[in-house]
Formats: sequence, C-alpha cells, structure tokens
Amino acid sequence: MNKPNIIISKCLNFDNCRFNWAKINDDFLLKLEKFVNFIPVCPEVAIWLSTPRLPLRLFKQKDEILLFQPATDTDLTEKMDNFSNQFLKSQKNLDWFILKNRSPSCWINDVRIYDKKVSYTFIKSWTWSFTKNINSYFLNIPKEDEWRLKNFKLREEFLTKIFCLANFREIKESKKISDLSDFQAKNKYLFMFYSQKKQNELWQLIASYNKTNLSEILNDYHIKLLELFNTETKTWRMINSLTHIFWYFKETCSALEKDFFLETIEVYREWRIPTSSVISILKTLALRDNSEYILKQTIFNPFPKELIELSDSWRLLNL
Ligand code: SF4
Repeated sequence: MNKPNIIISKCLNFDNCRFNWAKINDDFLLKLEKFVNFIPVCPEVAIWLSTPRLPLRLFKQKDEILLFQPATDTDLTEKMDNFSNQFLKSQKNLDWFILKNRSPSCWINDVRIYDKKVSYTFIKSWTWSFTKNINSYFLNIPKEDEWRLKNFKLREEFLTKIFCLANFREIKESKKISDLSDFQAKNKYLFMFYSQKKQNELWQLIASYNKTNLSEILNDYHIKLLELFNTETKTWRMINSLTHIFWYFKETCSALEKDFFLETIEVYREWRIPTSSVISILKTLALRDNSEYILKQTIFNPFPKELIELSDSWRLLNL
C-alpha cells in the first residue's frame, strides 16, 4: 500500500509545542505513524511564538475574526495569514489533514470565538486561522480533527479513504490507463458503499479514454473520487453492494445458502450484526470458488491489518 501524505498538528505526538509546553499523546496516531508520511506543523511556533507562551484567542470584530494574544494585546492575524499561505503553497501530493480540535490556530470543526474579550460562542465552520487558507489550496482534500478519530466508525472510514487515495496517487503518477482500470475494478464494491451512481461515473471517465486525454481523465477522476468519499455511507447502499457481491456466486450457491445469506442481510439491515459478519460469508464463498476478482476487492482489506482494532465493526477478516 502506498503511504498516505498527511499534514498533522505538531502537538499531536510530535512536539511539546502547546502554549503550556504540553503535547497530546494519541495512541491511534502513534500506531498510524508507521504507515503514513506525517508532515507535522505548528503554525504558532512557525510564526516565532515561544513555547511556553501566553494563550491566543480568536476575537470577532465586526465581520472579521482576529487572532489575538490578549495578555500582550498583540494582533497576530496577518502574520498567521502570511505563514499559512506560504506553507500551504509549498505542499504537494497531500491526501489528508489531521488537526488539533478547538485550537485557535489549527481548528477545523468548532472553536471558541470571543466577543469583547469576555463571552464566547462556538462556531462550526471555519472562517479564520491557519486553516482558513486550506480551502483555497486544497478545497477537496479531506480534513479531520484528532478527536473525531476516536470514534471507531469515523476512524475506519478515515483509514479506508486515506489508503485508497494514496493508492490512487500512485496510479496518477504511473500515468497508465490499465492501472487506472485495475484500480477501479478492485475498488468497485467499496465505491458502491458510498454511491453506485458516482462509481458508474468513474467508469464512464475511464471509458472516455482516447490516447490523448489521460492527464485530463486522471485529474477529473481524482476530483470525482474525493466527491464520492464525501458521500455518507448508508445501510441500504452497503446492502446493495454486499448483495451485488453475493449474486456473483448465484450459480454455485445452493437454495439453502441463498436463504441463509438473505436472512443474514435482513438481520444486518436492523444493525443486529456487524458488517464483518456479512463480509465473512462473502469471503468464504469467494475462497470456496477461488474467485480471484472478488478476492482482490479492497472491501476485504482496505487498510493494513495492524490498524484494525478489536472494537471495530466490520474489518476483522484478516486477524
Ligand atoms: S494546536 Fe496547532 S498551533 Fe497549537 S500547539 Fe498544536 S500544532 Fe501548534
């Protein structure tokens, strides 16, 4: 598997660079380090603030949000904006961002915005900070904060997507339409978890190849792939994908086996069993029939097995 490139807030395991000289120890990110290329950055240290330092706050002033160090009455907005532009401009081939939640500089989901230096309010989408400029440079590149990755469902999705995106980067670099077709074929059922329509659109892009438009196809494919991953997985979509795999074995399954699978799907529909139970049945059928095409599907092995946790819901097959 190609290693995903991820920009990460430096105080997450890498450095004691928080305002109070602390570091956040995160076991999952520590485990992940071996499998990805982390690009750690601390924007506050990068604009020459010392560690430890007096805390920063975001203030709302008319329509503007300012980055301020209240104790020294220093406005750091412009400095941070300049650094953010300069740093992000120099980054290439990124797959993801993992940023410290609720930091005035690194936040992406919610942060305190102060009013008149006293009261504050939480806001849910970003308007200012180091992260303000991310969308100008990396509009579609996904961003996550470390806190959300503590939820196993979100973590599984995150892992699935980063390794898929990193593998796609390798395909993009190889510039071979045959590699792109292989990539699409082995991700077919994984993509159907997100959207069958978008999965078909990816095929249509590949089908439009005419020997002169490969770069264009690869760029459009990348954009569509990110769009696909921005689609929320739904149980009915997952059932649709799993049932499609099952019909692959319709000739070799007995009536009893078909009944058993369909009953299992009904129990799964009510979330009384995890996805791993259904995937186990499918993998057994694929092994029995020695179905190379199904066995190479990434749905069975979307990320390194060392990153699977026992509490995870559906990717226990490689334990
Ligand atoms: S949250 Fe960001 S700015 Fe704050 S210490 Fe961590 S990396 Fe530095």
